[in-house]
Amino acid sequence: MAPIPGASARADFPFFAAHPGTAYLDTAATSQRPDSVIEAERVFVRSDYAAVHRGSSMATGEATWAFEDAREKVARFVGAGEREIVWTQNATDALNVVALGMADASAGLGDARFALGQGDEIVVTAAEHHANLIPWQRLAAKTGARLVVVPVDAAGLWTLDGLREVVTPRTRVIAFAHVSNVTGLIAPVVDVVEIARGVGALTVLDACQSVPHLPVDLAALGVDFAAFSAHKMAGPTGIGALYGRAELLDALPPARTGGSAITVVTLEAAEFLPSPQRFEAGTQAVSQAVAFGAAVDYLSAVGMAAVAAHEREIGQALAEAVAAVPGARLVGPPAGAERAALASVIVDGVHAHDVGQFLDDRGVTVRTGHHCAQPLHRVLGVAATTRASAGVYTTLDEVEQFREALSGVRTFFGVSA
Ligand code: PMP
Repeated sequence: MAPIPGASARADFPFFAAHPGTAYLDTAATSQRPDSVIEAERVFVRSDYAAVHRGSSMATGEATWAFEDAREKVARFVGAGEREIVWTQNATDALNVVALGMADASAGLGDARFALGQGDEIVVTAAEHHANLIPWQRLAAKTGARLVVVPVDAAGLWTLDGLREVVTPRTRVIAFAHVSNVTGLIAPVVDVVEIARGVGALTVLDACQSVPHLPVDLAALGVDFAAFSAHKMAGPTGIGALYGRAELLDALPPARTGGSAITVVTLEAAEFLPSPQRFEAGTQAVSQAVAFGAAVDYLSAVGMAAVAAHEREIGQALAEAVAAVPGARLVGPPAGAERAALASVIVDGVHAHDVGQFLDDRGVTVRTGHHCAQPLHRVLGVAATTRASAGVYTTLDEVEQFREALSGVRTFFGVSA
């Protein structure tokens, strides 16, 4: 029987039996893994393990089959073709692969359509995770392009109008998060793609916080590139994925070069395979790829529509929980508005780290800090926030545990009567 999001799915995740009474509200940082994912990796390592895409032995053939089968599963999960999914270390790596490839092209080492120069513009929002900001800063620095920022308001939100104001005929790239890991804003991706196409710019979607939680069809959304990580979606650490439209991936210069990625090598030069192999130089995270395939099997068995419906309810409950606590402020869209299943909180008069410690002492696992979004926190006027985030296994009981603990914070720290 397919697991049902919430208490039923929870039974599949051994973490919860090992931590009874813990409200695990840190899935946006990293997700727990179900037994089926842990087992898939164990079985592969115990009995099917061998080098992939190398040699001609039967063992190699079987391991390669499992490795490529996982790619096909991940591709299907996001509406991509198999050649459109490249294994990377994580989402951060995937975003770097795009920016570094463009830097190479700008240096004359590849397809000119990826080449940027003086006067070109790269657009990001002020809400981006550092993973989707710093690679673009560096690309701009290397090429003389200008990094242009879509501003956010006091709640940390950007708008399409704000985007339209900064996009020009010189815009070459628009890089943005599908779902913000701090505000929970869900970006209007199709509209952004339309704006980008209007000026011939490429779109790069940070899909880290959307692919694990919503049905996502990257081809239907129309983005050119996208990045996500297995460890945020019931899978292992050490592997992520870069999505790119096949014709773009076949042309993007590979950021890392070496064995396996090539056709002909001479002492002077190398020619590269088409995607995905051209980006996968060196030995890959093979058993993690297999486990990544098992993770999308698990989420597919639950059904992403069911996951999204469950998380919509949890997301609203989290937002309402914060709204119900005097002196606690919710970052991002207010309760009642569309938002992801995460809530970043500012508790007036109490530092986020103290809030996190207080919650942790009451069995509530949250994340504190700037969540790799310092520029956004600067606009919010705080150095850090406390974030509660949910996944397929989160229950309303956990949200209640969070609300109750949060409601005691200000009294404990002596900032309210
Ligand atoms: N972008 C967003 C929106 C994220 O939430 C994260 C993870 N915090 C990343 C990028 C980076 O993911 P990873 O650390 O898995 O590379």
